[in-house]
Amino acid sequence: MAARKYIYFFGGGKAEGTAEMKGLLGGKGANLAEMAGLGLPVPPGFTITTEACSEYYHLGRKKLFSLISGQLDKSLKKLEKVTGKTFGRGPRPLLVSVRSGAAVSMPGMMDTVLNLGLNPETCRALIEQTGNERFVLDSYRRFIQMFGDVVMGVPHHHFEQELDAVKRSRRIQLDTELDIDALQEVIRRYEKIYRRDTGKAFPTDPKRQLQAGIDAVFGSWNNPRAIKYRQLNDIRGLKGTAVNVQTMVFGNSGENSATGVAFTRDPSTGEHRYFYGEYLINAQGEDVVAGIRTPQQITRRGSREWAKSQNVSEAERRKKYPSLEEAMPAVFKELDAIRVRLEKHYRDMQDLEFTIEDGTLYMLQTRNGKRTAAAAVKIAVDMVKEGLISEKQAVLRIEPQSLDQLLHPVFIKEAEEKAVRLTVGLPASPGAATGQAVFSAAEAEAWAEEGKQVILCRIETSPEDIGGMNAARGILTARGGMTSHAAVVARGMGKCCVAGAGALNIDYRDKKFSVNGTAVREGDWISLNGSTGAVYAGSVETVAPKLSGPFGQIMKLADKYRRLGVRTNADTPHDTTVAVKFGAEGIGLTRTEHMFFEGDRIVSFRRLILVAETVKRLKDDCGCAGLKELKKAVAGNKQALEAISQYQQGLRELLPLQRRDFEGIFRALKGRPCTIRLLDPPLHEFLPQDAAGQKEMAGVMGVKVSRIKYLVESLHEFNPMLGHRGCRLGITYPEVTEMQVRAICEAACRVAGSRPEIMIPLAGNVKELSSQKQIIERVIAEVSAAKKKKLSILIGTMIEIPRAAVTADEIAREAEFFSFGTNDLTQMGCGFSRDDAGKFLGEYVQKGIYEYDPFQVLDQDGIGKLVEMAVKLGRKTRPDLKLGICGEHGGEPRSVEFCHRVGLNYVSCSPFRVPIARLAAAQAALRD
Ligand code: PEP
Ligand code: MG
Repeated sequence: MAARKYIYFFGGGKAEGTAEMKGLLGGKGANLAEMAGLGLPVPPGFTITTEACSEYYHLGRKKLFSLISGQLDKSLKKLEKVTGKTFGRGPRPLLVSVRSGAAVSMPGMMDTVLNLGLNPETCRALIEQTGNERFVLDSYRRFIQMFGDVVMGVPHHHFEQELDAVKRSRRIQLDTELDIDALQEVIRRYEKIYRRDTGKAFPTDPKRQLQAGIDAVFGSWNNPRAIKYRQLNDIRGLKGTAVNVQTMVFGNSGENSATGVAFTRDPSTGEHRYFYGEYLINAQGEDVVAGIRTPQQITRRGSREWAKSQNVSEAERRKKYPSLEEAMPAVFKELDAIRVRLEKHYRDMQDLEFTIEDGTLYMLQTRNGKRTAAAAVKIAVDMVKEGLISEKQAVLRIEPQSLDQLLHPVFIKEAEEKAVRLTVGLPASPGAATGQAVFSAAEAEAWAEEGKQVILCRIETSPEDIGGMNAARGILTARGGMTSHAAVVARGMGKCCVAGAGALNIDYRDKKFSVNGTAVREGDWISLNGSTGAVYAGSVETVAPKLSGPFGQIMKLADKYRRLGVRTNADTPHDTTVAVKFGAEGIGLTRTEHMFFEGDRIVSFRRLILVAETVKRLKDDCGCAGLKELKKAVAGNKQALEAISQYQQGLRELLPLQRRDFEGIFRALKGRPCTIRLLDPPLHEFLPQDAAGQKEMAGVMGVKVSRIKYLVESLHEFNPMLGHRGCRLGITYPEVTEMQVRAICEAACRVAGSRPEIMIPLAGNVKELSSQKQIIERVIAEVSAAKKKKLSILIGTMIEIPRAAVTADEIAREAEFFSFGTNDLTQMGCGFSRDDAGKFLGEYVQKGIYEYDPFQVLDQDGIGKLVEMAVKLGRKTRPDLKLGICGEHGGEPRSVEFCHRVGLNYVSCSPFRVPIARLAAAQAALRD
């Protein structure tokens, strides 16, 4: 049997891999192969597969290296042949970079080593070859530092301290001012540090260097920040990272060399008015991303816009920050042609990395560029217009969850105009954020955990800051360009970010920054406008965003292809209006209890609760069904009559309030259907649990505090979610059902075109339904007769108790529709408390016991089976049974896909998730 192929070569106009092989070669490796195959100028190299990484973890490093050593040697030989250089020797020594590259890009999370192959001997040869001793020594000291840090774990700052010491002793400030003698001293000091911290001499054998580099990259797949990044971005099921070993080209070999990063379209907005990107002359790739120097723009136009935003004069711009178009016109032309070619080839926006070595252009990377949701939507819509992709591809290309970013707030214009502007940085990731300043990622996480809103302020961010960046509302950095770590990561997260605000003087020790004479300390409020780069003092008020043209177009396309309906969960006319604007086709759940809490309503409802049990007991004792009959039966009993009248007063007060709410909602719906759920939560939720609240309630009700205390105690349940709630309340207190149905029907009579549907909560037994249905039908008939209006109102139920799901054929005899209440169904089906399971579910997910938190993503293997069973059984009894879902899962893309697959008619979710559900539903239909 032939040995498995672990290494794929690219270069010399040919490649063994293609762009399709991302799973095996990682994104970077597959695209390098593709570019090499297209004949683009790619430095030759080879990719060690992700399968090798997987073996590294299964078999251990020793066995892995014995498996691949033959292929590694052969690949190195081939590389030497193609480049005409030799690894570890002169006259033209071969130097390589060793970089990670998984199937899904994880920027900055894993390790990279550059300049590998340098040692005193190759340094000498290279000096002879290039005649540039300073450049060679600078490369060597960078290599020792990177190898020491990345491969051997020598703390970065140990090297930095030595570098600073040399600079101080020679009274210089910039690295570029280090002369040959100073660099030799830095190298000596670095070697010493290396020996001190690792106990070994710096390895001079390039093959050993290479093996250690590969080892480190494989090892970095499971470093804590890479694991956290995968968790945060829900990256699963990958074999590991590939390793790309590629011939070094040097952007730092002089003033005719440069390195840069570019996007074929603007990753923030999706615009493509010009070629977006940044570069630095005489620098290595890490210099651009690390944000230590201010990068320059690729095009003249981009450069002028940048200068304007930064208050840089045209003369200064041309002198200090010329564009690539101006500084190296021929190379710019070649790069621009490659940009056009790559975008056409990949039919997607590309993120490019390039290096110019002595005037020769090399492409180091292309990949589908990360972008904000706004850019994703615009690019997809534009590419359809440009004939690059089909409508269906456009719909499939946008991550539904990412639309969330578009729905984020922006500053109120007047509030922003009035705000005190501290400075302007780069608009690195759009949106608006307000929060308290903190100066470390750890603090950002800790403060956010306490429920505080924070802005993470850093000189620059690094991958270690990922947790804090995620916890913060916004990110502000003093250094770094549009492609800095902070900018790239924030955009991916959909988080507002202002980067490179150079006027900030950040002091980590005193936890403050000063800017133009103002000091901002830890805990002070600041505000960021990630779309303009403005930084403000204090908290600036925000509003919901306006959705742009491309958003509407993509939603239109989604609606064209989806078959699943999308409704919303809304309890107020305002929420309903918002949801309708977002495209909701009706309401799938109005939780009527929310209407009981507002203002004085709680007083009316509490009045009713106070006497409800007494009234119920009287009814049972007298054998009376209705209150009228009961009043007659207890005539003369003053106390009983008073209780009944208080009960009726509560109902009388609530009726018009509920009616008004329903009218408002029906109006906002403009003829769309509205599923209204009757009262659901247990009664204790409406009572004050604390002593002060109980005292206040006693005062309002005119009773003793002891009576309220007794009431609270008597309504206490050990398991209230399994207790006296849902239709069980309606069975005990039919007058409440009656009042609610009357309010619905009367509102329907008042608002032309309204289409209410009445939903009975928490039924587990068909007899519960028949009992409630009798009341509902009677009230509908009564109102209809009184108002002389025909009311056709569907009556259905939630399926949220497992017993209801498994007896759905019986339930469907009474119910005209089902709505799956997957919150409770998950609670009862998995046996996890909705309120408390958060304490351990995180660990369950981490350990893979559940793939996702089942309250966020529907547990398709378990709860999903109950849903499927209920769908089948229900439709067996009633083929036209209308089916929906109104649990939180209704707005979660994976769960939406499930709902499509099992044949529900609609999903219902919170207003802001409606667009997400529409897109997810379209994608589900297109993937069918
Ligand atoms: C449910 O249980 O899924 C549901 C929608 O109802 P609630 O969340 O109000 O219990
Ligand atoms: Mg429920």
